[in-house]
Amino acid sequence: MLKQTGKTLAWFYGQVRLEKPVYFVYVTLHIICLAAQPFANIVLPKYLLEELMGQRRIGTLAALTAVLVLSNSLFRSLGAVLKCRINKLNQWFELYFERKLTVKFMDMDYGHLEDPEILDQGRKAMDGMGWYSGGMYGLTSCFTRMAASAVTLAGVAAIIAATCPPLFVIAILTVLATAYVIGRIKKLEVSHFNKGPKINRSFHYILEVLCESRYGKDIRLYNAADMLMKKGRSTLTDLYLTFQELEDGKRIWSCVNAVISMLESIGIYLYLGWQILIRRISVGDFMMLVNAAISLRTNLQEIITQVQELDKKTGFMKEYITFMNFRDEMAEGEQEADRTACPEIAFRHVSFRYPGAQTDVLRDVNLTIRPGEHLSVVGLNGAGKTTFIKLLCRLYDVTEGEILVNGINIREYRYEDYMKLLSVVFQDFQLFALSLEDNIRLGCWNRKDQEPEEVCKMSGLGERVKTLPRGLQTSIYKKFDKEGIEPSGGEAQKIAIARALFKEAPILVLDEPTAALDPIAEYEIYQHFDRLAGGKTAVYISHRLSSCKFCDKIAVFSGHTIAEYGTHEQLIEYPDGIYAKMFQAQAQYYV
Ligand code: ADP
Repeated sequence: MLKQTGKTLAWFYGQVRLEKPVYFVYVTLHIICLAAQPFANIVLPKYLLEELMGQRRIGTLAALTAVLVLSNSLFRSLGAVLKCRINKLNQWFELYFERKLTVKFMDMDYGHLEDPEILDQGRKAMDGMGWYSGGMYGLTSCFTRMAASAVTLAGVAAIIAATCPPLFVIAILTVLATAYVIGRIKKLEVSHFNKGPKINRSFHYILEVLCESRYGKDIRLYNAADMLMKKGRSTLTDLYLTFQELEDGKRIWSCVNAVISMLESIGIYLYLGWQILIRRISVGDFMMLVNAAISLRTNLQEIITQVQELDKKTGFMKEYITFMNFRDEMAEGEQEADRTACPEIAFRHVSFRYPGAQTDVLRDVNLTIRPGEHLSVVGLNGAGKTTFIKLLCRLYDVTEGEILVNGINIREYRYEDYMKLLSVVFQDFQLFALSLEDNIRLGCWNRKDQEPEEVCKMSGLGERVKTLPRGLQTSIYKKFDKEGIEPSGGEAQKIAIARALFKEAPILVLDEPTAALDPIAEYEIYQHFDRLAGGKTAVYISHRLSSCKFCDKIAVFSGHTIAEYGTHEQLIEYPDGIYAKMFQAQAQYYV
């Protein structure tokens, strides 16, 4: 237990040492302040009382009272100032750890984002740093209280050992009983924490669905509100029940704790009262020893409580470290990628199976796309076309075989470098609630040699931009700006194409780029495809087979592999070919 606690503390305070070492100075001063404060209240009242019952000298009484009041207010105000400084830094660290968690989510293998176990671990990391542990606030306040109590305890124990050692027995019995109670409460909290993430994640998902405008249309049209609310209520009930279970358990053990304290007070007063009656101690000693005994117990109890709290909090916060240390499986090489030349792409005996799936989606795929060649990928739904693109984009690694770009396995490229080779418009591309310009620039925000207006014109968005009062600075969506626009499906697709063009990578991949476009816009995209794709190596997935005509080659996916490959003219000639049949089927409706 202590080893794990120590490791977690070392990890978090290691980060503190790297980022803000002054934190340790404030915490140490705060511990000294807290530890010193009780002594005046334990020792000085004895002398005040003895002076009052004895010589009653005004000067001595005034001096003792002044020391008592001043030391109390000095330590209290110094403590408050230090606490304020520490809390400011705690706030800074809260954001710091949150930022690191977000970066981890963004950088991890894409496949992991589809793994519920990893998503649960991510939720545990967030919860573990939040409400359950209090993050750095919780950790440091625990640690400070424990250290301050240890120092006070040493002083108080010295006073008792010098004047009335039997009081240790009462204190130790009380502490053992209290430690047991605290241990039981901790068990309840840990069990609650472990049940939490799954329910929490479901609950937050339903909450998001109910509150986000992008789900609003479907919810209204399909009258899904009742069903979703019912599911939300059921997760809420589960959440509430786990909290209730925790609070009920805690209430019982808190009552037991109160009884233990009461028994302890009775023991102290009876024993010290008897000591006065047999004249072993004075009234002043009685007062000091009562305060010392209570302080001994509270500080011992505080240490045990804080050790257990630390163990519990570090147990929660350890989930953050587990998540942060989560190793990506995708290997990354050192090879630099050349963005200036137009690359050749080759799939060699590529097979792929999604993690956890029973069968391969792609099997023994072989294909070469020459530099500057435009390849059209067609096939029925579920044939594996998008998966083929995902493999090329290294969102997943192939299960067998290899993908070569310019003769080098894509795993050997530096990942970030390789990403720079690709401009992709996925079917389920996303726009962000930012300005139109930010949506187009994204990662290339400081590019100077290309104007966003240019790519807007190329993707057919030029006229629309002219009608916007704030032009490229218009916000996409109304989430943060009343004057924002809600782009139509076609407009959104044009923005996504403009973004891909702005990136100016030598490989262009478009997954059904015209699905949401009107026939004129679609025609324009086809007409200008050569200009859009320029001299780039391009892969183009489309259900509109007429669009394949202007591609150099066509690959037809069927039966988990490339079933047919050639130019439009070649494929249309196969009498029972898949492409020929699909083309005929579509032609019937377009002629
Ligand atoms: P296409 O683009 O040709 O319509 P996809 O490549 O999207 O086909 O999908 C091919 C198959 O892989 C489908 O059966 C689909 O259900 C499955 N699939 C797609 N994505 C995943 C995933 N993340 N996990 C498991 N199976 C998936």
